[in-house]
Amino acid sequence: MDVNVGKLARLLRMAGFDTLYDRCWKDDKLVALCCRERRILLTRDLGLLQRKQVEFGRYIRALGPSEQLLEVIGLLGLERHVVPFSRCMVCNCPLQPIAKEKINHRLQPLTRKYYNSFSRCPGCRRIYWPGSHLDGMRQLLPSGAGAE
Ligand SMILES: [Zn+2]
Repeated sequence: MDVNVGKLARLLRMAGFDTLYDRCWKDDKLVALCCRERRILLTRDLGLLQRKQVEFGRYIRALGPSEQLLEVIGLLGLERHVVPFSRCMVCNCPLQPIAKEKINHRLQPLTRKYYNSFSRCPGCRRIYWPGSHLDGMRQLLPSGAGAE
């Protein structure tokens, strides 16, 4: 993914998709990485997509991150593959479930009171739970996507 779709990267991870993004990457590095790992290049840069090394690339039309998310999900037919909060939004690591007792001291009082299931990122140790973040994301996704 390139810089024009940076916020989209976080949303895609939030929806559970393995997404690489770093705003420091130069175009050459980005293209090489896509080739090596056979990843789909998502960009708003047509010049980048026209490079002959790019095997799988998609041009993103939408400007806003939430519209971009819907566009990608539709474009690639990902509706059935959404797994909310299975991946860290910041570092892309798959989240691991963690017992509430182990992280109790890190929770805000209301979170501690109302939630019992938590996950932690093995990379940055951020904690995720099915709270307000999840509701916010459900509104962004097509209806039915990611529902249990
Ligand atoms: Zn993380």
